[in-house]
Amino acid sequence: MAVEREGKLMLFDCGEGTQRQMVMARPSISNPECVFITHLHGDHLLGLLGLIQSLALQNREEALHVFGPRGLDEIIMFNLTALHVYIPYKISFHPVRPGIVLKEKELKVRAHRTLHTSDSYAYRLDESTRPGRFFPEKARALGVPQGPLWKRLQDGRSIKLGGHVIRPSQVSGPRRKGRSFGYSGDARPTKDIMRFFRKVDLLVFDGTYSEEFADKAKEYLHSTVGEAAQLASEAQVGRLVITHISARVNDSSMLLRQASKRFKNVVIGEDFNSYDLALPE
Ligand SMILES: [Zn+2]
Ligand SMILES: [Zn+2]
Repeated sequence: MAVEREGKLMLFDCGEGTQRQMVMARPSISNPECVFITHLHGDHLLGLLGLIQSLALQNREEALHVFGPRGLDEIIMFNLTALHVYIPYKISFHPVRPGIVLKEKELKVRAHRTLHTSDSYAYRLDESTRPGRFFPEKARALGVPQGPLWKRLQDGRSIKLGGHVIRPSQVSGPRRKGRSFGYSGDARPTKDIMRFFRKVDLLVFDGTYSEEFADKAKEYLHSTVGEAAQLASEAQVGRLVITHISARVNDSSMLLRQASKRFKNVVIGEDFNSYDLALPE
């Protein structure tokens, strides 16, 4: 699962085969800045070691930030040492606890425990709000000349003109919402994880089982496609992509029928699907 934003790449989990899929998807984004691992099960992290080694071969210099449960650093460092791999860049491990795990000017990423068979986290990315729509006619009416002063106001900063302060709110609309993305990893559809994902624009959620195997989903602490759809409906998300489909399923149209009974804007995720999230107006 990769999120590409402003030319930067974030990976969410890194299962076996991730590198090959990244190359096939689009070579220009094979260089992630951050990797968020949900839990220490092989299908979610076994691709990380190979990825770290490949980035070393590409003479990467920037640090790679790896977020995940406690113990992930030991798994990676033990293997790198045993394999005598030299890494020319810094690997920064960030052990994850519930709450904000990454905060930048334009976005933040939060983690929340999921109910699964190991210490496991879901992630939610929220962009900061953006300055409101700029109205040139209002700026002109206040005597602000077109140029760098407009740019300052468009960036949400006040300016001084002829002894007066002009605030962005005088020449632009209300601040606009950022976009949001949620990723469950492996999870039961609990109430608190539903609240954690409230109103995300795009949610990628565990739907390992079809409805016939609801008891298995409970036993192995995963979700059925119907449960994923029900959670998406209650959380009022924009769009749901169901993932982590059991290898036993060979007809995904049946899964889609089961899921769409409870939530309309749903797809069964497949390799190389991609979704554009438009900036809200
Ligand atoms: Zn798992
Ligand atoms: Zn899994």
